[in-house]
This record gives sequence, C-alpha cells and structure tokens, in this order.
Amino acid sequence: MEQGVRTLCPYCGVGCGLEVIGNKIRGDRAHPSSLGMVCVKGATVLEAIDRDRLLYPLYRQNLADSFERISWDLAFELITNRIRSVLATTGADSICLYGSGQWQTEDYYVAQKLIKGCLGTNNFDTNSRLCMSSAVSAYMGSLGSDGPPCIYEDLELTDCAFFIGTNTAECHPIVFNRFRQYHKKHPHVKSIVVDPRRTPTAEVADLHLAIRPGSDIYLLHGIAHLLIQWNCIDRSFITEHTTGFDEYQSIVEQYTPQRVADHCGIREEELIQTAKWWTEAKAVLSLWSMGINQSREGTAKARSLINLHLLTGQIGKPGAGPFSLTGQPNAMGGRETGGLAHLLPGYRQVVNPEHRQAVEDHWQLARGSISPQVGRKAWQVVEGLETGSVQMLWIAATNPLVSLPNLERTKQALLNSPFTVYQDSYFPTETSPYAHLVLPCAQWGEKTGTMTNSERRITLCQAFRSPPGEAKPDWEIFAEVGRRLGFTKQFAFTDSAAVFAEFVQLTKDRLCDLSGISHARLARLGPIQWPCTEDCTDAEALQEKRLYTDHQFLTPDRRAHFYTGDALGVAELPDAEYPLILTNGRLYGHWHTQTRTGRIPKINKMHPEPFLVVHPDDAKRYGIGEGAIVVVQSRRGSARLPVQISDGIKAGTVFMPMHWGALWHESAEVNSLTHPIACPISGQPELKACAVRVIPVA
Ligand code: SF4
Repeated sequence: MEQGVRTLCPYCGVGCGLEVIGNKIRGDRAHPSSLGMVCVKGATVLEAIDRDRLLYPLYRQNLADSFERISWDLAFELITNRIRSVLATTGADSICLYGSGQWQTEDYYVAQKLIKGCLGTNNFDTNSRLCMSSAVSAYMGSLGSDGPPCIYEDLELTDCAFFIGTNTAECHPIVFNRFRQYHKKHPHVKSIVVDPRRTPTAEVADLHLAIRPGSDIYLLHGIAHLLIQWNCIDRSFITEHTTGFDEYQSIVEQYTPQRVADHCGIREEELIQTAKWWTEAKAVLSLWSMGINQSREGTAKARSLINLHLLTGQIGKPGAGPFSLTGQPNAMGGRETGGLAHLLPGYRQVVNPEHRQAVEDHWQLARGSISPQVGRKAWQVVEGLETGSVQMLWIAATNPLVSLPNLERTKQALLNSPFTVYQDSYFPTETSPYAHLVLPCAQWGEKTGTMTNSERRITLCQAFRSPPGEAKPDWEIFAEVGRRLGFTKQFAFTDSAAVFAEFVQLTKDRLCDLSGISHARLARLGPIQWPCTEDCTDAEALQEKRLYTDHQFLTPDRRAHFYTGDALGVAELPDAEYPLILTNGRLYGHWHTQTRTGRIPKINKMHPEPFLVVHPDDAKRYGIGEGAIVVVQSRRGSARLPVQISDGIKAGTVFMPMHWGALWHESAEVNSLTHPIACPISGQPELKACAVRVIPVA
C-alpha cells in the first residue's frame, strides 16, 4: 500500500493519526491511539485547507479603517515598536498573549519563552483556560501534579465506564468507538452516563443519570456516602496512600441517598445502582470533559470525581482511573510547555522560585527575568482591556469573539484595545474585525511539529505542503520578534526540531519527562507516550505507560489528597424572571467556532442550522411548537433560533450547540448569553449553565 505523510488530526484531543497521500486523507492504521479510525471531522479536514486563507499581513491604524496589505518587515516593526513603547511606559503587565490548544508544542514553547522569559510577564493564557484548566487544577490538587494517569487501552480493560459531563460519542468519537466496540462484546461491562441530556453517549448506556445541571458534586458525594456505608472501600489504599479521609467522610455523611436523589432529580434506586456497579467492578474508569470543567466549581467537581477513585483504590492499574478527555488537539502539549498564566514548562509553576530559576537558567536569561506573579487569565485580559491596563493584546490561533463568555462585554472590551495583533490561518473570522494587525500563519499540515493527545502520546505532525502566500509558522513569528528585540541567542533556532530539542531538556526528571523524545525518534518509531526518559530504549519508549502504578503521588507527602468541600451548584440559579437553565455543547460534525468546519459543505449539510432543544413540558408551558422561532434571553444578551422539542432533555433545562458565531448565523451565539463567573482555583468560567427565559416570536 502506498505510504503517505503521517500527521495527527488537528481537531479534538483524541489525537487520531492521519495519513495524507496526495490530496487524499485516511486514518493511520499504525497509530496506536486510533488504529486507523477517524470521524467525519478528520476525514474531511483537507476540504477546508485552501478556503478563505489569509495570505499576507494586513494593517489598519484604527478599527474603523479598512485593512491594507503590508510587508512582514513592517508588521514586525509595528509589533516590536509597540512592545518597546509599552515596556517603557505602562510596563510588561500591559502586554498579553492569548493563544491556543490548536498550536503545536513548538509554537507554545517559543511564545512562552518570548512572553514569560524575555518580556517578563506571565500574561500568557490560552483557550485551554476555557477548556481544561479545571482538570489541571484538580490533578494538581489531588495527585500533586497535572497529568492524566490513564491510557486508551483502559477503555478495553475496564468493567465499568463512568462518563460524567462528557458527550463522548459526539465530542471524542474515536475514544467512544474504542469503548463501544469492547462494551458490545462484553456484556458484563457497565456503562453509566451522567448528563442532563439523553445524548448519543447516553442512548447506549446501561444507566443514564439525567441529573439537574450543577448537581454533579451531590451525585459524587452521594455515591461516596453509599460506598462508605457498605464498607466497599479500599481501606489499605486509603491508609497507605491518601490524606484527608476522615474529613471527607464527615462531609459525605450528609449526602444521604434521599437528599442526593431529590437534589439531582433522579430516583434513589438509580443512585444505588450506580454505587453498586462501582463496587462490583474490578476496574472503574471515569471519563470527563467540559460538563465538569466549565463550571465555577469545576476544580471541586473533578476532585470529587477523583475522590471516588481514591476511596476505592481505582487508580494506577489497568482499566481504572480518572481520565480527563482534552478538548483540543494539543491542549496536553500546551500544559507540558506551561501554556497557562500560572505555569512554566515541564509542569512547573510561576510562583515557585526554584521552578523559575530552572527555566531562566535554561533560557540563558538573568535570574529574576520571569515574574513571580501569576499572569492575567483569559477573563482578566478582558477586564484589563476595560480598565485600560492592557495596552497590547496578541491573539493567536483562536477565535475569542465566539468562545469567550458574555460576548457583548467582550466585544466592547476589544473595541477599547489600543493595539490588537491577531494571528490566524483564515480570514475573516469573528475576531478579525477587532484587530489592528492581522498576521497569516501556516496551519497544521504546513509546518512540522508535535502534538500530545489525551493519553499523553506525542505524534510528529509532518508538513505535507507549503504555507500559502506569505503565511509563516507561529513559532517563527514569535522567534523573529524575539530576535528583533535583541534576544538573538534565545531564538537562534534553525528549525522546529531544534525548538523541540531545547524544550524536552526542560522536562528532564519531571513527571512529564520527554527528554528521550526527538523529532528524529518520532519519525523513526512513530508516536511515543511520556514519560520517556533520555536513557530509555526503543522498546521502553514504545511501551504503554500508566501513571501512579506504584501509588506514589507527586504531593510533598507522596499521598493523594481527598478533596473535602461541599457542593455549591450553578452560579446563576433560575428564578421567576429567568426560569430555565441553558446548557450547551458540541455536535458530531462541527468543531468549536467553525473556522474550518463551517467552510466544509458536507459538514454544513449534516448540521445546517443552530437550534434550541426544549422539553415537551416546557414547550407546553411557554406555548412553543416544534420548529417555532424563539428568542432566548439571559441577563447579558439574547439569541434567536428555531426550536426542537425533545423529551431527551431534562424539564427546566434547554440546550443549544456552541458552534454558531456571527459569521455563520445572525443570532445564535451561545456566549452572548453565558456569564464569566469562574472557578476561583482554575479560573475556568461557568460556560455550561446560565439562567434564561424563552420567548416565542409572534
Ligand atoms: Fe479528529 Fe477527534 Fe475525530 Fe479523531 S475523534 S478524527 S481526533 S475530531
């Protein structure tokens, strides 16, 4: 069979291998994560590669002006002049970079070095703040470090899969396919899905718990209550490897089955059945994504889920563990390189002086170059634009004018920005009207680099074509800015392999040790999971690797810590004025803000328009018929779209997909309705639930 160029799907964090042969694409059968499978997004991705590409830098002095084509030389001059003038006046804290889980690891690393190292501000956040940051905080809080302990093989070794806050069938289809094929063949294996909607994931579950939005911690504490009451817990694991059990026990004692069932809106028998399956299974695997993370108590939710694994010793063994599924193709690589405002490369933290020094030394920068202050998180950037304390905003490979909460406020804030640089492959997007300087970048397939998927597996994504027009890889843009600011030694990279080689040295002896991985080794061996130490043999590099198999965690006392807090629930409760809870999510075919998939006819045909799902009882109460146009209003904004009536959603809850920004529909922006209230630990906004009312259009 003809061999193609091997790469990775640039959409979700499943990280399916792809093979490109000429202008055709297929699943890479040799890729251990996906075994040749792809969903419709991966199968059609080439169809968007030449549509509406941004080819040249564009500039305008004022947002009211039209863009004009400029040279790269002038673009770099505009950026470096602005950086110098901001540094000389309001200081480094007035500069912010907002990046993306779409980046390759090399892009992340060079941007990181420029902003945190050379400019001395940690105002470097990414769209992972909206996506994964609660999972990061939860792993760090409970296990002492970020890093999902599980691997995909666990999907085929578990006795019970507990899906909570994840519509895996649509959002992570190939992970779901792997589990589903195994589930069908093994009748003893149980699948439990926790979701207010009867999603395609829930349709094929053995038990669907349609809880009220925001009642997750009640449910999780309620399961723990029963496990402790039945004495179905692993006491020796708890004694030898955890702390905080007594306090946790005294909290979950309050979560009696009746109280939990009433609060969650489920039957007591359903709760008992769930707890029974947890106890009967030799191996329990829990999977979660945005339904848990995107919440003002996202960290507490994820930690309450990890608690169940600590209670039962279901971690660090085949088929078991708490598994966070990543949203974006390289959200994991971003975490490894320190791509959030509180992180540094190698799972280090900006507040730790030893961590800062290690990175400064590696970057050949003077001690003290990296600020000890946590930088502005995504929403704090918006607030900084409102107050004028942000004087330069650089956005790359993401579309915040669809994805940030409270869009009207976000738009007003962006209009207040004195200088916004926007780097993307496509033009226009919903964000480009808010930019002064627009830079064309090479996308996936036009640059060679690496990405890490949800199971910690790194794939070399090889370029299979040249960038169109004058587009450049993101890392080259950041490196050139660094050199022009005088940091020639720090940005003397000859290619992306050299960038990666420098980065992996910073991971040596860390949990995410990648020091045995290089572009050349990935090209020779194929994808490799971390940890992969410098001295590991090829056979060791290719082994499947779970974390914490010795139950030695990364906390100072080497024990995992129980989370000991109560449930808070959703931040904005329904009331007489706004009586419904709006939730939202992805559809199978579309990807996030449609920058690619909106340009693919087959996917548009599959999902031609946005819609609002309403329960029949609510439809009756508000006099709404199937297909009727309604206005959905929250305290912050509104949307106008057609209704689908379905008993597959909990009464009192409505659902709309998240994909339609202003470019694709006149009024269906979910985030015009959401609010920015965030988890105090992770800073992740509660994007999944807000109070709304629905008004039929006469
Ligand atoms: Fe791409 Fe995710 Fe689909 Fe795999 S499951 S083909 S990574 S979108």
